[in-house]
Amino acid sequence: MGHVNDLQAPPAAERLAVIDLDALRHNVRHLVRLVSPARVMAVVKADAYGHGAGPVARAALEAGASWLGVAHISEALALRSAGINAPVLAWLHTVDSPFAEAVAGNIDLGLSGWELESVVAAARELQIPARVHLKIDTGLGRNGCPPDLWESFVGRALAYQEEGLLRVVGIFSHFSVADEPERPETDLQLERFRTAVAVAEDAGVDHEVRHIANTPAALSRPDSHFDMVRVGLGLYGLSPFPGQSPEQLGLQPVMTLKTTIANCKEVPAGQGVSYGLRYSTAEPTTLALVPLGYADGVPRVGTGGPVWVDGTVYPVVGRIAMDQMVIDLETTGIAGTGKDLVGREAILFGGAGLPSVDEWADASGSINYEIITRISGRVQRRYTDTGSSQEAGQGPAEPEAAPEGSEA
Ligand SMILES: *Cc1c(COP(=O)(O)O)cnc(C)c1O
Repeated sequence: MGHVNDLQAPPAAERLAVIDLDALRHNVRHLVRLVSPARVMAVVKADAYGHGAGPVARAALEAGASWLGVAHISEALALRSAGINAPVLAWLHTVDSPFAEAVAGNIDLGLSGWELESVVAAARELQIPARVHLKIDTGLGRNGCPPDLWESFVGRALAYQEEGLLRVVGIFSHFSVADEPERPETDLQLERFRTAVAVAEDAGVDHEVRHIANTPAALSRPDSHFDMVRVGLGLYGLSPFPGQSPEQLGLQPVMTLKTTIANCKEVPAGQGVSYGLRYSTAEPTTLALVPLGYADGVPRVGTGGPVWVDGTVYPVVGRIAMDQMVIDLETTGIAGTGKDLVGREAILFGGAGLPSVDEWADASGSINYEIITRISGRVQRRYTDTGSSQEAGQGPAEPEAAPEGSEA
């Protein structure tokens, strides 16, 4: 049993993150058109923001993305192990990062300073030139070479390039406030970036790609596109701008988070709900139990977040627990009393007509990036994919991998 080719329906998933690869490809094509002739790097770090790096990377490449981007070398190596051979850039390293494996795996490495020596040592040992992108800190204050050290950093890299130990493929940086287009710091960062590129070119760097734009800059600052944009959030169909919906930006949300109602019961007025009894029913009502909690990645502080059941949206009442949360069917004023909802689909967020990731972000004092990324491995991923004949492959985090023509 258990052959990959079994055409049996997969077992019903009790908790599902449905990943709509058609929506993902739509988003990629939209972004590719928007930034052309600049290229698109699909950022698939953190298991593609919780969507599954393998299937997302394949669909993104198929829809026109040219590069992949991740934070960790281990994430890049996982893409290689999944048989993906497109250019991959990894940019966040520690002294324990597997630089030799990265060089051997043809992974592009973003470098800010000290890593240069480690990467060169690996290249020397392997007799394979490393492919590197030099990062300038234009104002974010995280990684990146400080501007006053840039010229000497570039000089060292070029010396190693002369020795045949590396090739400077790219120059890059990262924005700090591109999601707030009215702020002036983005202009300043762009100016510093242009200066850094000019310094590198004058020193003899013959780069393939200059890149600084993330999703908000890709959408709002054509002057930031250079040769490539690195988009994460936009791939997943979410908006980086408060007050602007995905639809307004031409994007379609990719993830739908759902389960089924696990219990439903009538309770009297004054019934306390969940740990701490922070909620008490105002009148006799019906409570429904939604079997998702913070162990599934739903923020504990997300009380009030929306749950769609049967076309009605109910706010979560009381504390969200590790495994579960409660909705009060009276809260909307349409008496759910006596209604048995056990087994009905309960959707926390999804695409058009459903509650949004942004509503969960607002309820939790967080941002949409965090809500999707923290959906845990306890929630099964299922891929819907009508627009491609290719298999919906396995996410590295999830062994369940049957190609899916439709959701459960
Ligand atoms: C995560 C990340 C991105 C993608 O940012 P989005 O806002 O999701 O598009 C781009 N570049 C770097 C360096 C990142 O860390």
